[in-house]
Amino acid sequence: NTRSLSLLGLGAMGTALAAAWQDAGYALTVWNRTPGRATALADVAPAAVAVPTVAEAVAASRLVVVCLLDDDSVGEALADADLTGKDLVNLTTSTPAQARARAEWACERGARYLDGGIMAVPPMIGAAGSGAYVFYSGSRGLFEAHRDALSAPAGTNYVGEDAGFAALHDVALLSAMYGMFSGVAHAFALIRKEEIAPTDLAPLLTSWLTAMGQSVGSMAGHLEDGDYTTGVVSNLAMQVAGSATLLRTAEEQGVSTELLTPYLTLMKQRLAAGHAEEDTTGVTDLLLR
Ligand code: NDP
Repeated sequence: NTRSLSLLGLGAMGTALAAAWQDAGYALTVWNRTPGRATALADVAPAAVAVPTVAEAVAASRLVVVCLLDDDSVGEALADADLTGKDLVNLTTSTPAQARARAEWACERGARYLDGGIMAVPPMIGAAGSGAYVFYSGSRGLFEAHRDALSAPAGTNYVGEDAGFAALHDVALLSAMYGMFSGVAHAFALIRKEEIAPTDLAPLLTSWLTAMGQSVGSMAGHLEDGDYTTGVVSNLAMQVAGSATLLRTAEEQGVSTELLTPYLTLMKQRLAAGHAEEDTTGVTDLLLR
């Protein structure tokens, strides 16, 4: 029955998922390690049937969705479960290697396996127009068979048969986000002691970052064709020369350069290796171990 599923894990995310599936008309069987969580669930998904054991939850549906704290908790919770013939979707955050190992583990137990990386916070789940989506990777057959159910709580983006790819995409996006956050933290620190309101700087930062976001596509193009040359426009020689002003300004403003220097140091390294005419794409190569 494709209109029913079992969900293991009623944390903040599991509860939001349960509410979204119930709103979409799915019959839900739920399990949580601490039974008390089912009480909170009664408010958002009153028709969900809470069962006391993992075995009962797994037996109730072909589609079994897991959303627990980490990969260890998934192994622990499903240690004795009979997964034969099940379609296991793991929305627990993990690393690519953990996801690949979990896929093999599920396969050995007779299940099809799909890994997911959720690009949303719980309030975005099931909210139309929130932009929430989930990266999926692993069994394409499972993804196709349950596409409707998987589309109910959030958008879907299937990124390949390699079970590690969902986690890899998830972490790539999050890592880029922290780079952006670190730049924003530095920018706010620069003006913090001045008569410039952070709320005045904010829209300027947002539109600047949005405009600069265009460079992501050109960097990708460079990485694919192997030619990082940008010519005279904003080349590495110019950017490294300009970086002295960034460091000096931080010093003048009494702001630590600890978030800024790692990136600038790599730009300098790439320049020193003779790549003055390139843009900053070559920094990527310097990171590879
Ligand atoms: P919570 O901390 O709210 O819930 C954790 C859940 O895992 C609870 O149901 C908890 O059960 C269960 N759990 C923990 N350890 C074990 C164990 N050893 N055995 C069985 N169950 C266990 O986390 P979230 O719901 O927010 O997150 C769940 C997953 O979703 C995580 O992997 C998280 O990274 C991911 N995610 C969360 C996002 C968010 O913004 N919240 C965003 C994107 C992904 P109990 O109630 O008994 O403690």
